[in-house]
Amino acid sequence: MSHPSRQSEPPSHRAAGAGRFAPSPSGDLHLGNLRTAVLAWLFARSTGRRFLMRVEDLDRVREGARDRQLADLAELGLDWDGDVVSQSHRLSRYDAAIAELHAAGLTYECFCTRREIQKAASAPHAPQGAYPGTCRNLTPDERADRLAGGRPPALRLRAGVTSFTIDDVLHGSYSGMVDDLVLRRGDGTPAYNLAVVVDDAAQGIDQVVRGDDLLSSAPRQAYLAGLLGLTAPTYAHVALALNEDGKRLAKRDGAVTLTDQKALGRTPSDVLGVLATSLGLAEPGEVVDLGILLDRFDPARLHREPWVVRLPTPPQSP
Ligand code: GLU
Repeated sequence: MSHPSRQSEPPSHRAAGAGRFAPSPSGDLHLGNLRTAVLAWLFARSTGRRFLMRVEDLDRVREGARDRQLADLAELGLDWDGDVVSQSHRLSRYDAAIAELHAAGLTYECFCTRREIQKAASAPHAPQGAYPGTCRNLTPDERADRLAGGRPPALRLRAGVTSFTIDDVLHGSYSGMVDDLVLRRGDGTPAYNLAVVVDDAAQGIDQVVRGDDLLSSAPRQAYLAGLLGLTAPTYAHVALALNEDGKRLAKRDGAVTLTDQKALGRTPSDVLGVLATSLGLAEPGEVVDLGILLDRFDPARLHREPWVVRLPTPPQSP
């Protein structure tokens, strides 16, 4: 790769840690996802970290999406260290972490349906969005009763706190809710919050850069890391891309993927230029590459507002 990445510094100048991008292969990446990936790369490389790629394929997998996502990231010029890791190949690690929590008495089975949780959580005084603890203290008879119902239970964390504070490079000190989060779903799948904590630690990731839709999940993840004896990473939750109505950018908004953009005649370099402009790292129309952006990148001067994406109006269907 031709850009003067700080990767080429001697090892003694490199931070030991790593950053990462961890897409879910549920579809193609859109401009907002690509922008977050570029930021994660810039944060990692500008601090001498390795940059790792992890495919979060425990659910919502769409055929071919993984390869298209990786190809799009590579076309923008992103590089990553080592092999791409897939969560579906790491189930034994999640099992081991759950077993550790279980052995410490920090888990319980939950038989609630989604609807029951919503109902209980909407009761007056229930903390917003928190699991209300319905199954936390079931008696042996109640548990046997529910097991007889035949619905396989989810496994939840018996959390010892209701809130936790993390430090975020962009948001400062941030306190958020911690509840008895799901560790393993009723269908046996390890939950995202568990998998992300286990993987970040196991991969030596000490810098998490991702969309700020996940800011409110960071306190529970950092708390869970502590319970597992792991060090939580530093966080930078970056603003999302929005459509012109101020809603989170989505595929239905039009030509939002790299493939869509190429079909409109834009090259990957043009798209990188648009992303860089949105970050205040390039002038409109300027030709840049990641090496140039790396030289210009300064987290302290990062544009923190959401990026409102203006797309050409899609042709009206007849
Ligand atoms: N896989 C998650 C997503 O694509 C990101 C998880 C994370 O960065 O912690 O939204």
